[in-house]
Amino acid sequence: MPLKTPEEYLESIKRQVNLYLFGEKIKEFWNHPIIRPSINTVMKIYELAQMEEYKDLMTVKSHLTGELINRFTHIHQSNEDLIKKVKMQRLLGQHTACCFQRCVGFDTANALYSITYEMDKKNSTNYHERFKKYWIEVQTQDLMVDGAMTDTKGDRSKRPKDQPDPDAYLHIVDESDNGIIVRGAKVHQTGFLNSHRAIIMPTLSLRPGEEEYAVSFGIDTNEKGITLIYGRQSCDTRKIEEGKLDIGNFKYGGQEIFVVFDNVFIPKENIFMKGEIEFSGDLVNRFAGFHRQSYGGCKVGVGDVLIGATALISEYNGTEKASHIRDKLVEMTHLNETLYSCGIACSSLGFQREAGNYEMDMLLANVCKQNVTRFPYEIARLAEDIAGGMICTMPSEADLKSEEIGPFIEKYLTTCEGVCAEDRYKVLRFIENLTMGVASVSYKTESMHGAGSPQAQRIMIARQANLEYKKKILKNILEIE
Ligand code: SF4
Ligand code: FE
Repeated sequence: MPLKTPEEYLESIKRQVNLYLFGEKIKEFWNHPIIRPSINTVMKIYELAQMEEYKDLMTVKSHLTGELINRFTHIHQSNEDLIKKVKMQRLLGQHTACCFQRCVGFDTANALYSITYEMDKKNSTNYHERFKKYWIEVQTQDLMVDGAMTDTKGDRSKRPKDQPDPDAYLHIVDESDNGIIVRGAKVHQTGFLNSHRAIIMPTLSLRPGEEEYAVSFGIDTNEKGITLIYGRQSCDTRKIEEGKLDIGNFKYGGQEIFVVFDNVFIPKENIFMKGEIEFSGDLVNRFAGFHRQSYGGCKVGVGDVLIGATALISEYNGTEKASHIRDKLVEMTHLNETLYSCGIACSSLGFQREAGNYEMDMLLANVCKQNVTRFPYEIARLAEDIAGGMICTMPSEADLKSEEIGPFIEKYLTTCEGVCAEDRYKVLRFIENLTMGVASVSYKTESMHGAGSPQAQRIMIARQANLEYKKKILKNILEIE
């Protein structure tokens, strides 16, 4: 059965990669304290898929092989599949309180599935069969796949072909009968190191003369010529300090990688787009649409944990009965459930593509993500409000454990009966971590910029706003000719 156990997943990523962190080459990255929480997070996906309780959300029958697969490798076959995707993402956010990294390749595959079909129909190419073959391997080996879109983009006022450095956008630099050679970099790569494979896509809609940038392909993440530079995150070195109390979420975390492709060879059978500029925009938009849908699940699950932490700290502080605290918790819940409603709504109004797979409603997916660029900030603001200033003035774990001064901290940080200072530390640090520490990358910055910054959604909303129709219905009512 193609379902890896968490242990099998861990063994399978123990490979040699060209990885750097703090200017040093890292060998056994799976043992590195800054990296390990991000691996624990992915292991949770594999663990939940093994459990009877979550079978319906975490696994599904593949339409390609008929076998039971992890849902993260599925090509959606109905609106129900789209809804279950969002529910699964909320579940994982609840279990890990961070970015679990596996959705990017999942969303890429669902976008490429229909795009390759449509390219073949127009140009008599053979991308769709090629992609299906590649993806069956992913499903049958239960592989984690990253989806890589964002180029470094150089001078934003210039098109890819006009850049002073042509590598500012990843592009084809050479070609032979066997394949292509590419050069460039992809940044903000969520989970790239923890993935077995990656699918690379263009970052924007391309124009005539920019064919070398219209390229999509699959690749092993440890392929020759790839260099990974681990992204720093706020307060990350707390993970290498003694103890775990100051970390906040000490078990789980996300991962962002700066990936350099220095003349990397891609064999023909792994290429899914080469020069088809007219499909580059649709690929970008479809992937972005699926990933904007995703945020209506994952960020909601993380929000659930933050709301739980806020309710708990109000109990620990003895403020839980105050009416304004109760009202703020209602507001946090309202905002969080609004995001979920958007995720479920764009899934429920999904439709079938000619390739046979199902896609979310594009307008509502963009509305979903636009709200995600705002509401987690307000939820985090309310969490900070209720938690109090102690989240950023509290002494360190070392001070709490110190024989000389620890008793002072214990004495003065003890609040209600039955609440020990250590539990209060844990919850306060968790809120600090999620609102301004490492986890705020997943909860806030990623909410802002992941799957496209706010303006990208506004462009998509504007395109689908259908103002002509809206004017017409008004004129009908008012009998205006
Ligand atoms: Fe998945 Fe959310 Fe992380 Fe994107 S940000 S990979 S949707 S958990
Ligand atoms: Fe993301």
